Amino acid sequence: SRQFSRPINDLANQYNMIQSGIAGAERVFEVMDRETEYDPGTSFEQLTDVKGEVVFQNVSFRYTDDVPTLNDVTFAAEPGDLIALVGPTGAGKTTIINLLTRFYDVGEGSITIDGRDIRSLDKDSLRSRLGIVLQDVYLFSDTIRENIRFGRLDATDEEVEAAAKLANADGFIRKLPNGYDAMLTAGGGNLSQGQRQLLTIARAILADPAILVLDEATSSVDTRTELHIQQAMGVLMKGRTSFVIAHRLSTIREASAILVIHGGEIVERGTHEELLALRGHYYELYANQFSQVSSL
Ligand code: ADP
Repeated sequence: SRQFSRPINDLANQYNMIQSGIAGAERVFEVMDRETEYDPGTSFEQLTDVKGEVVFQNVSFRYTDDVPTLNDVTFAAEPGDLIALVGPTGAGKTTIINLLTRFYDVGEGSITIDGRDIRSLDKDSLRSRLGIVLQDVYLFSDTIRENIRFGRLDATDEEVEAAAKLANADGFIRKLPNGYDAMLTAGGGNLSQGQRQLLTIARAILADPAILVLDEATSSVDTRTELHIQQAMGVLMKGRTSFVIAHRLSTIREASAILVIHGGEIVERGTHEELLALRGHYYELYANQFSQVSSL
């Protein structure tokens, strides 16, 4: 795509991708292309020592004047919680993520991290503490080692390899000719989809963010790779507040809370069992979507 052909340095400089460990996705680049209206001033606070409490308080938002996209969204995540966002296409799940990452700013209400309004925070500082792992993996034409190190540029080779091990990527990397020094083509086209995902997870583990934002891939990979990915995601999410646009049954089953988004509102919330028992929106989604995908 257009965005992917930009020089990597350009992207890195503009969006602070290096620190944030952003894996990249066309969709996000699109929203990054515009500045949020809440203009960064000079004296914004740095976000340090993040515990990871995230609160949306009566958040409403519209992209254009006529149509409200989110309406009065309120929820709280404790440090370490796994929040699964589910709902039909166009419900507003991505918009919730766009607001948390400040690619857009809330219209009404507020979003706080550890009690601090994110609009008072320096944007780069905010994004450096957010790990963003999206469906489309952003891999560039360099060695595997440097692609992982992109998560944290001052990481040593040992740290890069430790992150790869945690992400279940070390095994396949060592089998490649040249191992960690194997060259990737732009976009990682010479790796399988599953391998690319494991590299993204390794990169995010290396970046060590307090808060994670994940858009789960719906891609079909073989069962073994799927298990590897799931395990690696478990490692990545452990101890971090995670927001997942969930497509995997395993993720929603483990979620501290599932938020069912419909027409820009939270229409149901609870655990998998609680929501199934309601026999409402979630039950329907589950019947139509999740029960058909891999039950791993
Ligand atoms: P989901 O992630 O649940 O599929 P989104 O948050 O992407 O839903 O979209 C919610 C609504 O906002 C949709 O109606 C979508 O068309 C609209 N929307 C998303 N992004 C934009 C944008 N950049 N400009 C205008 N409308 C948008």
